[in-house]
Amino acid sequence: MAFLDLRDIGVEFESNGKKLQALSNISFSVDTNQFVSIIGPSGSGKSTIIKILLELLRPSTGTVTIGGKPLGEANPKISVVFQNAALFPWLDVLKNVEIALEPLTKDEKYIKETSEKFIKIVGIDGFEEAYPRELSGGMKQRVSIARALATGPDLLLLDEPFAALDVFTAQALREELLDLWESPTFPPNTILMVTHNVDEAVQMSDKIVVMSHRPSRVLGEVKIELPRPRNTRSEEFYAVVDGVVKLMSSD
Ligand code: ADP
Repeated sequence: MAFLDLRDIGVEFESNGKKLQALSNISFSVDTNQFVSIIGPSGSGKSTIIKILLELLRPSTGTVTIGGKPLGEANPKISVVFQNAALFPWLDVLKNVEIALEPLTKDEKYIKETSEKFIKIVGIDGFEEAYPRELSGGMKQRVSIARALATGPDLLLLDEPFAALDVFTAQALREELLDLWESPTFPPNTILMVTHNVDEAVQMSDKIVVMSHRPSRVLGEVKIELPRPRNTRSEEFYAVVDGVVKLMSSD
C-alpha cells in the first residue's frame, strides 16, 4: 500500500524576476516498508522534494499524501539524514541525539536510555561524551543516523547521506543501515533516499525513481528484485545498473 504519495508536483521558483520551473508533474509513491531512491543529475530537484516533505517548501501544484492524508494534516514523524551530519558542535554525542527526543517527551530517563540505545546500535558507544570536532566523518554520520532513528520515525529521508564519506566508510555504513532496515523490529521501515550514485541506489533500493534534467520530470521507475544482501559485483547487479544508466541518459 502506498504510504507516501506525490501527485503532479510542480515547483516554480522566482529568481532575479525570472520564473524557473524546477519540478514539473512529479508523481511517485513509496509503499510502507519500502526503500525507494530518487536519482537524477545535479539540479534535478532532488533536494527540493526533501524540502517539500519536510514542509519547508510548498509546491506550486500537486498534492502530497501520507497514509492517505494530506501532508499538512497527517502529522507524520519524519527524520532526515543530510550529507553533512548537521550536528550541534557545542553539544556532545549523547546530547546531539537526546535533543531530537526532547520535543516528544519530558521523560528524561527515557530520553537518555533511548539515546544510549541508538548510539550503541550505530556502533559509537563509548563516544557519548565526545564532541563532533573529535569525530571522523563516518562517526559524525553515525551520530546523525542515531538521532534520526531514535525518534522512531514513520519515514526516514536520506539526502545523499554517504556522499561526503570515503568509499570504505560509505560502503560499511550502507551495509549497516540496510541490516538495520531489514531487522523486523526496527523503525523506520519506510525510507526515501536521494542520491546521484547509481550503484548505491541499486544496492539499497526496492525501487528507483529516475529524474530528468530541469524542468525535472520522472523519466521512469526501476523496480529491483535482486535478493538481499546484494552482490554488487554480480552480472545481475550490473544489468540493473545498466538499465538505470540507460534511463538516465534517455533524457
Ligand atoms: P538537486 O538536489 O537535484 O541538485 P535542487 O532541488 O537543489 O536539485 O534544485 C533544483 C533546481 O531548482 C536547481 O536548478 C536550483 O538552482 C533551483 N532552486 C532550488 N532552490 C531554489 C530557490 N530557493 N530559488 C531559486 N531556485 C532554486
